[in-house]
Amino acid sequence: MADLVLAVHGGAGRGPRSPVDQAPYHVGIRAALAAGTQILTAGGAALDAVEAAVRVLEDDPHFNAGRGSVLTADGTVEMDASLMDGARGRAAGVGAVRRVRHPVALARAVLEDGRHVLLTGAGADALAAERGLELLPHEAFETTRERDRWAGAHGTVGAVARDADGHLAAATSTGGTRGKRAGRIGDSAVVGAGTWADDATLAVSLTGDGEGILRSVAGHELAALVGHAGRPLDEAARHLLHRRLAPAGVDAGLVAVDARGAVCADANCDWLPRGIQRAGGEPWSAVVLG
Ligand code: ASP
Repeated sequence: MADLVLAVHGGAGRGPRSPVDQAPYHVGIRAALAAGTQILTAGGAALDAVEAAVRVLEDDPHFNAGRGSVLTADGTVEMDASLMDGARGRAAGVGAVRRVRHPVALARAVLEDGRHVLLTGAGADALAAERGLELLPHEAFETTRERDRWAGAHGTVGAVARDADGHLAAATSTGGTRGKRAGRIGDSAVVGAGTWADDATLAVSLTGDGEGILRSVAGHELAALVGHAGRPLDEAARHLLHRRLAPAGVDAGLVAVDARGAVCADANCDWLPRGIQRAGGEPWSAVVLG
């Protein structure tokens, strides 16, 4: 049996400095770890585990995804999400969806449907309704308390996992960037940018400056550094974050797991709520870096 592992993040950027104000982020991260690990230890698939972990964070208003999504310049909520199954090489993303409670579940519906990889806007919301996914009224997303306190803070969420069969998966979900132009779609919807998983190399979920992550196709780039250049995961992640993205002015963070079960949670800025759990081990979480 392969080593089971799950890692989650709650968005790179900025956040509160005091331990008291940071406590809810630990709680959210650990709840997501518990949900995903329960699936992995019961013999479930990595893809199911990352979806479950991200769903928990989409319901937690401390994070910029699902319920806690930031608003566009028009005052609307437009969420992006994606996930990838390293076992089957299948992936899907949804962009600018407005009503679904769990955008990651909608991305999963697109993945299982199999006809499309990226579905956006009203068409994606229509698929959610067709599949019986839970829809929320706009007011349900307006959980402005935390996000207004930490204006500019990021809080995209993501998860990566390796299951008992050694399969890898990754998922990412976000409300995007605060005050973005309506219709803007970021890296979190795009396979190869914010999300990538491939059993032969690694699974990764990124967060941070979405335009910069898109321009550098950062998720796939990390897989190429490991798969083609033969770099160890830690070193490849450091290279990507500190040598490629940071010099280009791109703040970013990531969680990743490789084909052997090595895990990495790192960022080139000093805020990245993150957690790791291995089967049979204690959950670990941290919020700031450095
Ligand atoms: N990458 C996300 C986006 O640009 C935002 C974030 O991770 O904070 O939509």
